[in-house]
Amino acid sequence: MANKTIGISEDLQNYVVRLGAREPEILARLREETAGLPSHGMQIAPEEGAFLAMLAELTGARRCLEVGTFTGYSSLAVALRLPDDGSMVCCDVSEEWTGIARRYWAEAGVGDKIDLRIGPAADTLDALIADGEEAAYDFAFVDADKTGYAAYVEELHARMRTNGLVLLDNTLRAGRVLDPQTDDDRAIVALNAALAADPRWETVLLPVADGLTALRKR
Ligand code: CA
Repeated sequence: MANKTIGISEDLQNYVVRLGAREPEILARLREETAGLPSHGMQIAPEEGAFLAMLAELTGARRCLEVGTFTGYSSLAVALRLPDDGSMVCCDVSEEWTGIARRYWAEAGVGDKIDLRIGPAADTLDALIADGEEAAYDFAFVDADKTGYAAYVEELHARMRTNGLVLLDNTLRAGRVLDPQTDDDRAIVALNAALAADPRWETVLLPVADGLTALRKR
């Protein structure tokens, strides 16, 4: 499953899930509801959600972007920490999955902070520039189609403010970056190599969950 930490035993994984973060009750319920879906492996790990939320608050994030919302765990974790005037644009292609997200956002009282755009994320990100939203965002999370990551990162560069933080999920591909087997694996291998050499970002690739890359816009 793609939301488990790579390279650790089942027992250690369970320990991390149990003690790794204090999960708000509403996030626990969302995680449990999502666990019943066939695509549940697309949900991030609870300790990863807690880490995203902590980073968003630490960086004083007020304007956020998300590419790949699924059932809303990461967006809800972050939105719960946003200031009163904080907002988030969420991109996804699925009405069905984001229908679950909307329900939990509303219950948590953050629905009015989240602008969900259904459609290809590249189109949404383009539209933001057309709206004059250049260098306007503080924090972004990408957990979508892996072959699209390179284009999303490129798009995000223009939309993030200097020192803005972008986080990319699944950048170790369950370890397959060492032996890529699919187009998704090869896309991430190419992206990791490109980011390691890209002077426009400070890049830190952490073995958190399935690989979490932090990019600080220089
Ligand atoms: Ca993921």
